[in-house]
Order: sequence, then structure tokens, then C-alpha cells
Amino acid sequence: MNLHIGIDDTDSPKGGCTTYIAALLVEKLSQLGIKFTDYPNIIRLNPNVPFKTRGNAAVALRTRTPDTAYELVRETVLRTVEENSRLGDEGTDPAVVFLRGHSTNTIKQFSYEALTDMVPIRKAVKALESSNASAVSYGTGLGLVGALAALGQTLNGDHTFELVAYRERNNRGKPRLVDEVSVRRMDLMTAPETFNNFDSDYRRVLITPHGPDPVLLGLRGESPKAVRRAFRFLRIREPVERWVIFRTNHGTDAHFASSTINQRITVNRPVKLKGTVLEKPERISGGHTFFKLKHKRSAVLCAAFEPTGKFKEVVAKLIPGDEVVVFGGVRRHEGKPLLTINLEKLIVTRLCDEVTVENPKCSRCGKHMKSAGRGQGYRCERCKSTASKASKQFLKKRRTIRPGLYLPDRKAHRHLTKPLSRYGLEKRRWNMEPPSGIWHRP
Ligand SMILES: [Zn+2]
Repeated sequence: MNLHIGIDDTDSPKGGCTTYIAALLVEKLSQLGIKFTDYPNIIRLNPNVPFKTRGNAAVALRTRTPDTAYELVRETVLRTVEENSRLGDEGTDPAVVFLRGHSTNTIKQFSYEALTDMVPIRKAVKALESSNASAVSYGTGLGLVGALAALGQTLNGDHTFELVAYRERNNRGKPRLVDEVSVRRMDLMTAPETFNNFDSDYRRVLITPHGPDPVLLGLRGESPKAVRRAFRFLRIREPVERWVIFRTNHGTDAHFASSTINQRITVNRPVKLKGTVLEKPERISGGHTFFKLKHKRSAVLCAAFEPTGKFKEVVAKLIPGDEVVVFGGVRRHEGKPLLTINLEKLIVTRLCDEVTVENPKCSRCGKHMKSAGRGQGYRCERCKSTASKASKQFLKKRRTIRPGLYLPDRKAHRHLTKPLSRYGLEKRRWNMEPPSGIWHRP
């Protein structure tokens, strides 16, 4: 039978990692003779859920499991989750969902909601009850939402791959010993088949995370072959415990997909809005840049925060009347009367002329003249000449931005953000070929 296993919320800010548990399970289940029908999936859900600070990721394992092996698989999964979760840490509420057969429409629908909305646990319970699934949850049961949602995201459209390498236990918490020069060479040799490797503007390696979790590095790319090839370019000066290739919705803008995005401005949800810039953008201390956008009959504040880098400079160059499409998460910021869209992407569709108005220049000496009074023309203060028929001069200023698509600097990207290098590489489908070389333990 087809058995799908969804897992979520095993980690806490102090450590742990749901993808690591998936990595352990891929190996354990392989050793039990279980066949995988897909690479393990990492599914990123709504990035705007306020209490999910670490990227809101869940995993799904998709297998062919003989009926006779079901109990053993179930027991192996639960034991591995219990042994490797940060059970007892605040905010760690793991859950595992076992689904026999295939995702139902109810589960798929639920899953799309979890990608763009805040979904209450009772909705997950209801969707579970109406399907051939069983669940085990710990703590508050909050993990149920992600565990079930991961099963419903079957990644039939655009998707990417990530090779995740893990560290040996005694190295966790220490600096990651991945040679920067080799990362840059790998980027040069493999992009755009790989992406988000190195940020040359800030000379910053993007494949290594920070913090105590077991992840040594994650290589993102368009195919399993591409990420395996990229991995061979790296010089790593610490032992790699194991690596696994995941299929994911990273870098796909899944939260802005036309099937999921809504045009209503709702707190904690992603939104895509077409509108007109209402006022000149304002920069506050720290570099955060805000502007007011008129959408239909309402106004909303758009924010480009300091870490977005050059993106906020582009935002600062907008002027009233410019037409834009904004993408981002909706927030309510304390002390701000308007809802705020934290910008993740901006399309400038039409720039209006920036016009300055000035008094005419004196034809004799070139100095700007002063008005001589209503309807009486202008007078030069320097040489006293007058010009009764002169009028105000309208000057078109050269705009320093162009229409087009703008993204924050890569260091500020969310996991779901589609990087510029992926535009045009989107996949329309997944051809369901059986996965090969999913994992390796050196
Ligand atoms: Zn003059």
C-alpha cells in the first residue's frame, strides 16, 4: 500500500531539526526494505505565522509499505520522533500523521490553507477524521497542522531539490567548517542549476545556517543530479555524518501562487496587490523604508526593512502616482493605524514623470526670478529686469529606477522566495520517476 508519513514541529530554538528526523527515518526505513515513491519532501508553510520563527517547515515521507510491515514502520517512526524531538521545550509540539492511500481533496484543500493562512488545530482534526489517516501528537498538538499539510502538498507543479548534509553530534554548536573559496567555485560552476549559494554583494556564504541544529549545509538546485554535483565541489573540513536529498517548495513562491493567493488584506497572510503609490516613501531610523499604497479604495502601508539591502533603496525612489504590484506578508504593527505589508517582492509596472516646478530664469543674468505679484510676471532681484510674460517652468527629472521586478537582497529571502535566477526555470509537473540515491552515509 501507499503510506505517506507527515512530521512537524519536532524542533525548538534550542536545537533539533525535523529534516534530521526525516534523514534518520529514510535510512531506517530503507533498511527495513521499505521503498520510497518520492524524495522526502520539505514543505514550507505560511511564512507569516507569528509563532513559527524558524521557517515553518514540515516533512513528508512517501512510501510503498507492505501491509504486513505497517505496524513496524509506525513503531519505528514514532520511536525516532520521540528520541530526537526537543520534547519538553516550550513551543515544541511534535505530531506525526500516517496516511494510507493517497491525499484526498480535503487534505489538499487543508494544505493550501496552511500555506497561506493560520489554521486552527480543530480543522486539522476534522480533515483527519474524514480521511484514511491516523495521527499521534505530543504537547499542544500544534504540529498536527504542519504534519497533515505536508502530506497534502504533493509538489506536482514547480519544485526544487535540496541536498542537506548533517554534522556529527560532537560538532554541533561549533562553527561550520565549509571552505568559502570552494563554495564560490561551486556557485560559478553550477549556477543557475543551483541557487542561493553565495551572496557576492556581501561576500556571504548562504548554504550554511547558523545555530546549534544538526544541519551542516543545504544545497539548493533544480535536480538531484545538480545538487549532488555541486556537493562534490565543496571542501568541508569536518566529518559529514550523512546527507539526504529532499524535494521541496523552496524558491518557488508557492505562497504567492495564483491558486493560493488572495487579494484581501488579512493579517498574517501573504498578499499580492496592485496599487498606486500615495505618498513619497519615508525612511525611518535604522533604514526601514515605508510608503503608502492605494489599493482600490483602501490604503495600506508597505515596508521594506533594513536587511532587504538595495531593495529598500529602490523602494525609496518611488514617487506618488507610480503603479506597482506588491507581494508580502500582512502585519499589524503596534502604533501604526494602517495594516502593513512586509514586502517580499515588488513589480514596478508604470513610473510617472517626476516633475519639478521652478520660476523662470532671468534672460539677462540667468538667476531665478521672483514673482512680481499675481498676474504681473517676474522680476530679477539681481539685475532688476522684468519679464511680464514669463511663466513657471515645469522640468521633467530623470527617474533613477526602471519598471521591472525587484527582490530583496538574497540574505533577506525567505525559504519560499523565488530567486531571480529561477525565473524561467519553473517546472510545470513532477514526472514521478522513482527516486534514486536519496541518501548517503560516508
Ligand atoms: Zn537678472
